[in-house]
Parts: sequence; structure tokens; C-alpha cells
Amino acid sequence: KNRVFSGAQPSGKMTLGNYLGAFKNWVALQQDYECLYCVVDMHAITVWQDPADLAAQTREAAAAYLACGVNPKESILFNQSQVSGHAELSWIFNCIARLGWLNRMTQFKDKAGKNSQNASTGLYVYPNLMAADILLYQATHVPVGDDQKQHLELTRDIAAKFNHDYNTEIFPEVHPIIMGEGARIMSLRDGSKKMSKSDPSEASRINLNDTSDILAKKIRKAKTDPELIPAKAELLEGRPEAQNLIGIMAALAERSRDDICAEYEGKGFGDFKKGLTEVVIDKLAPITEEMARLQNEPAYIDQVLRDGSERASALSEPILKEVKKIVGFIQ
Ligand code: ATP
Ligand code: MG
Repeated sequence: KNRVFSGAQPSGKMTLGNYLGAFKNWVALQQDYECLYCVVDMHAITVWQDPADLAAQTREAAAAYLACGVNPKESILFNQSQVSGHAELSWIFNCIARLGWLNRMTQFKDKAGKNSQNASTGLYVYPNLMAADILLYQATHVPVGDDQKQHLELTRDIAAKFNHDYNTEIFPEVHPIIMGEGARIMSLRDGSKKMSKSDPSEASRINLNDTSDILAKKIRKAKTDPELIPAKAELLEGRPEAQNLIGIMAALAERSRDDICAEYEGKGFGDFKKGLTEVVIDKLAPITEEMARLQNEPAYIDQVLRDGSERASALSEPILKEVKKIVGFIQ
């Protein structure tokens, strides 16, 4: 069986973007792959997280994975900081990745903003830790949103350089799994920015645990343009907010954009938003409900994470041992 690794940062509340770009695909992969789904808390602290919030968000992320259908008996569901191999391998990768490679990473530029001298060095080497997350388990496939494509290419470069420098084949080639419609969900306030759980504007995103009332309000207030919905999706060119809302409907309802346009042709976004609200509530309500139920059982969640971490450690230990031997560390 090929091995899948994926994760999300407990850096806020899980969003519709996380669901459509990642979680929704994770569940289907459990059948054909051996899957590791990680709450990457070490990645989250690359920007400041209040400790109490971090713990709550970690449990919430785990609850979201479970509510979306990750089966902890089948897959390994765990949190990153409980498996020390992630930190150990990432140090080795800090010594493999080149400054020039990291300097090209657009996520660092986006997150560090104008005052990049004040960003943490952790944020800068974030992609090296991500490479360690994946390669620590010799994972071959990584289901992510479009925004992580560049980091995955870096993972491939790190694996190739390590293999080359040490004349080994220990690290496999990593393949991204980026699924069509939901791969790039944009902010509800700005069609040129991706939807993010760390966006300061609450109105920019749909959270998996938003109530129906809040969902409806956010969709009603979502930015659009005054034009009508055209007969075909290609005619939405140059209207990013319109494209995004039609795309969300298509991804959630598992229909084509053309199909959605045909249904709403000649109507304005006021009408469309009513339909969209129904679809969003219909798809998210069961997840929201299950997350709420699970969050009342923190002891259960902690146990799932501990069990997963033990299994992840067991899987990674022989691989890390071999890497250390290759590097020349005495054990
Ligand atoms: P942050 O703002 O803290 O970076 P985030 O919302 O970008 O949070 P991550 O934890 O960085 O979420 O990413 C988790 C997964 O969700 C990744 O696979 C990522 O590709 C995917 N993802 C994040 N945002 C989107 C989006 N807007 N559309 C599709 N996929 C997304
Ligand atoms: Mg992100």
C-alpha cells in the first residue's frame, strides 16, 4: 500500500477551504492508502499562538478530522509535537535545503508581510518541517490544496538532494494529490486572496462550526458584483468573487460549474446566494453537529491523539534510525 500524509495547522477554526481542499479528500483515500492525518501544532507556532488557544484548537482540529470521516482505527490520527522525529528530521533538512530555495516560497512572503525582519525563523523554515512530516514516514502521496503545491515541490527537492548527497534511495518521490473544484477556495471578502483560518477578518471565511445563522449571514454579505449569472462558467472570467461562489457550490454539490451556471442563468447573486446557503448548510450541518459532540469529550480526543502518536512513532523510528546512520550520527 502507498502511504499518505496530510495535516492542518491548529492555528484557528477549521474552514470550508480546509474541508474542500483537504479533509473531504482524506476520507476517500483511507480505502486505498495507509493514511497518516496529523494536527501540525509545531507548524502553528511559527506565528504566535496563545497556549490555551493552541490546546483547544488542536482538539478542535482533531474533532474536525473525525467529524469529516477520518477513521482512527484505520488511519493514524495524531498531533505532530507528540512524535519527536518531526523535529529531529527537520533539523537535518535545515542542513539540506538551500537559502535560495526558501527565498522563493510565496507563503512566507504572504505571511511575513512587509515587516519580514520581524517574522520568526520558524516561519522561514516551515517548508523544511513540512518535508520532514512527510518523509519521516516515507509517504508517497500528499492530498493538499493548491496553496501547498510549491511546498511539496520543495519536499521533492529536499528528498532528491538528500538522496544524492548521501548516495542513498531512502526517500521516495512524493506526489501531490490536488483535487479539482475545491483546491482553491477564496476569501468571501476578497476574491484575490485564499480563504484562510488565520485571516483577521472573520467575515472572510466559513468555519466548520459556524451556526446556520452565521453561515447565512456570511454568505449574504459575501462580496459579489452587480452582474447576472451567465450561461457558462467560462463567461465568469475576470469576476473572481463570482467565480469563487459558483466554485464553492460546484465543489459542495459535486456538480460542474457549467451546470450551476445553467441553473441560475440570468439571475443575480441575491438569488444564487439563497441556493448556496442551502447547499452549505446541508453539507456542513452534520459535520458541525458531530464536531460539537466530540468537543464535549476532550478525554476521548486526547486518547485518540495519544494512540495515533504511538503508532506514528513506531512507524517512523526505524526510518529515522536509518537516516541518522546514513548521516553519520553514532547511535
Ligand atoms: P493558515 O491561515 O493558518 O495557514 P489555512 O486555512 O491556510 O491556515 P492550513 O492549516 O495552512 O490552513 O492548511 C491545511 C490544509 O488546507 C492544506 O492542505 C491546505 O492546502 C488546505 N487549504 C487551506 N486553505 C485552502 C483554501 N482556501 N482552499 C483550498 N484548500 C485550502
Ligand atoms: Mg495555510
